[in-house]
Amino acid sequence: MNRDHVLILGGGVMGLSAAWELSRRGFHVTIVDRGPLGRSASWAGAGILPAAPRQNAIDPLEQLKALSHTLHEQWADELRQSTGIDTGFRRCGGIHLGLSPAEAATLAGNRYWWDEHNIAYTRLSPEQLIELEPALQPTVNRLVGPAWLLPDEYQLRNPWHLRALMEACRRNGVQMLPGTAIERLDVHHGRVRGAMTAQKRSIEADLFLICTGAWARQFLLDLGFPNGIMPIRGQMILYRSTPHLLSHVINVGNRYLVPRDDGRILAGSVEEEVGYVCDTTPEALADLQRWSQSVVPGLQGVPIEASWAGLRPGSFDGLPYIGPIPGLENAMVAAGHFRSGLHLSCGTAVLVADLLTGRQPPIDLTPFRIGRG
Ligand SMILES: Cc1cc2nc3c(=O)[nH]c(=O)nc-3n(C[C@H](O)[C@H](O)[C@H](O)COP(=O)(O)OP(=O)(O)OC[C@H]3O[C@@H](n4cnc5c(N)ncnc54)[C@H](O)[C@@H]3O)c2cc1C
Repeated sequence: MNRDHVLILGGGVMGLSAAWELSRRGFHVTIVDRGPLGRSASWAGAGILPAAPRQNAIDPLEQLKALSHTLHEQWADELRQSTGIDTGFRRCGGIHLGLSPAEAATLAGNRYWWDEHNIAYTRLSPEQLIELEPALQPTVNRLVGPAWLLPDEYQLRNPWHLRALMEACRRNGVQMLPGTAIERLDVHHGRVRGAMTAQKRSIEADLFLICTGAWARQFLLDLGFPNGIMPIRGQMILYRSTPHLLSHVINVGNRYLVPRDDGRILAGSVEEEVGYVCDTTPEALADLQRWSQSVVPGLQGVPIEASWAGLRPGSFDGLPYIGPIPGLENAMVAAGHFRSGLHLSCGTAVLVADLLTGRQPPIDLTPFRIGRG
């Protein structure tokens, strides 16, 4: 039984997933967050788990998608068994539509990628589309090119998933310290000795894992690593509709509609570089409302229950940073997962836990190394 003490900085999906996995492998884990745990980008996201390669993945990012996709199915069961909490994991399938020539061209290109990676898909005739999603009937005339069904696109209800992770961590003895902002790591002769809180208290541990999402940028800079992590704001609106208006995730370009079982429908999102400002704007919300109602006219008049913004941890090359921090023998990072952090969280947690237990991870982590830029 490994009883090394790991301190995880950041209680989003990345930190909580790592905490759970590490606690299952016998580590003694503490997780700190400057705010409440399980909020921030991880709470704000849509919870789409896009179809991923099942076989033939050569590229490490594709392998990470494949690993995570498989693990999500397992984790949903395991979390339910150990906590009784439904994470909202559903094999709902996704429908992809092109409503402009550019969107249709992208989808036509995606087909090659789906073929190459054995991702199941079906080309839908307008009649088949309407049969699957009657609410899209008024949109069929606007289709440019065919619609596509990807049965292996899933969703989870991220606030529920986070709640389940927190409960599973609690049951495994993970110490959780919300309201604990870390200002810097105290480094001595190539070893981190402690994490200094805003109250000038040092939290000591054997191993340190930085999972502070978009805020990992400054931690890495302070440790001497220029990096491409940057906050990319997304905004979302939540309709309170009746159940079954939609049943699949509907994707159009970079935007989507995600139907929950209870009739709520999420509409997102945008990508904005506005620094660490996490407010919604009337313009973006109005635009999302217009767009969603143009795709599903049945949403007109449906009340909007809530809207919010979140800061995705973007990275300059679209790849996360996962692995040891060069020059430090006891610190690692797992951050910068941009639009895919909910999807890639389980796989990332397993990779980090493999590294910390001295196992060879099943994926080559070279593309995710710290210090690449
Ligand atoms: C609108 C939107 C839609 C999205 N949709 C999807 C989707 O459908 N599918 C998908 O896979 N991904 C999606 N994402 C992306 C996904 O949400 C993120 O990639 C993921 O949540 C990142 O998780 P994280 O734990 O790294 O970061 P976060 O969730 O941001 O957690 C980082 C934590 O670190 C804490 N922290 C920061 N600084 C400090 C400090 N100094 N001391 C202590 N704690 C600190 C923060 O308080 C925060 O809780 C979406 C994101 C947004 C915003």
